[in-house]
Amino acid sequence: MSTQTSPALSSSSDNLMEQQIYINGEFFSREDAKVSVFDHGLLYGDGIFEGMRIYSGSVFRLHDHLIRLWESARAIALEIPISIQQMTADVNETVAKNGLTDGYIRLIVTRGAGALGLDPYRCSDPQVIIIADTISLYPDSYYTEGLELVTASTIRNHPAALNPRIKSLNYLNNILAKMEGLKAGCIEALMLNHKGEVAECTGDNVFIVKRGRLITPPVDSGILEGITRKVVLELAEQAGIEAAEEAITRHDIFVADECFLTGSAAEVIPAVTLDGRSIGNGKPGPITLQLNAAFRKLVRE
Ligand code: PMP
Repeated sequence: MSTQTSPALSSSSDNLMEQQIYINGEFFSREDAKVSVFDHGLLYGDGIFEGMRIYSGSVFRLHDHLIRLWESARAIALEIPISIQQMTADVNETVAKNGLTDGYIRLIVTRGAGALGLDPYRCSDPQVIIIADTISLYPDSYYTEGLELVTASTIRNHPAALNPRIKSLNYLNNILAKMEGLKAGCIEALMLNHKGEVAECTGDNVFIVKRGRLITPPVDSGILEGITRKVVLELAEQAGIEAAEEAITRHDIFVADECFLTGSAAEVIPAVTLDGRSIGNGKPGPITLQLNAAFRKLVRE
């Protein structure tokens, strides 16, 4: 299996006309796109972000991503300095300025520069940054053969400490688990919550299929409410596939018929082993393939 580590985030910006990075309403070249070393986004991971896909020139589910961004902001008492309408226009302008029809958007809002102490109330200039880039996808074989997963020993953040619903710039929890996965030769790792239930993977949500029924952990299990997860639940409903949000354990994955992951970068990707044990018959299952096809049709039609 290939060792490519991430589908979205190995940017190949050489293909871009001249990358234009948005910071607070202005556009800069890659070299000139800079923030202060006193920005609490850098000093403390104090900020929030979104990762979105551009398909055929438009940002997929932009409104849903912006609602999630605004909710992340509310949760950390960060005031985004522009309106949601302005942000929508600015994201679209960034896509157009970069001449991208298919690609990836990283939207970041930092707390801004302040003193060296933690005090967020001394930061007065949140930075809104929009980066449009190309995307290198996972190899096709991952979709036809499926991924192998390991369970990370690093548990997902306790919701009462740093709620995984907040898409914060502090991703060390996920990075520590990702390192465990990579050391074990897996590009994704399964993360459990403090109760030992399945939460999600380091950058993707998890689904299983059991006797034709789709199951994904609920928000209560300590997850980011993925936009792709929501789309897949909608697609399942349209296809007449019964779906439920239920707490699951590793056991449920071991005895599942199928398992797959969802995320803006990976889309819908089969997972065929967990901790060296085959899931189902060890091949991408029919419902996974059906939902993958339905997702691709939706985004590319
Ligand atoms: N969980 C985590 C921890 C993530 O970082 C992501 C990717 N943003 C997801 C799930 C999937 O979310 P989405 O479908 O919105 O990309």
